[in-house]
Amino acid sequence: MIEQVESNPKELVELFDALNQEFWDSRLPDTTLSWGPLNGSQKAASDPMGSCGKPEIRILPRYKEKGYFSHGFVRELMLHEMCHIAAFQRGETAAHPQHGPVFCRELEKLAPRGEKWAKNEAMVYKDLLAIQQP
Ligand SMILES: [Zn+2]
Repeated sequence: MIEQVESNPKELVELFDALNQEFWDSRLPDTTLSWGPLNGSQKAASDPMGSCGKPEIRILPRYKEKGYFSHGFVRELMLHEMCHIAAFQRGETAAHPQHGPVFCRELEKLAPRGEKWAKNEAMVYKDLLAIQQP
């Protein structure tokens, strides 16, 4: 069954706008937002170039049989995807690793501003980057 994808539902737009203002001084570009569906086990995805020249973020609202994600978790998923858009703006293009150094720096900037999880997440991706180095 394919779920209907509603573009720019009010709750996602409000969340994106609030986070964009709080962490990026509203410098992230206008982005198409939608709730899943997504492929496989991915909880969220973003495409900085989008399909019509506008970035896109999709968030899965819940695991199949396990109920809806908490607001706090959806917020973390959104911030993660927004870091991808910010990294792209700073020149980390699709040719680079998806969770590259610029992306990690965006995550790390969130940590001292109340997002402790972001520091741990950045550490995991930096470890992966180190492993991938020849
Ligand atoms: Zn990611």
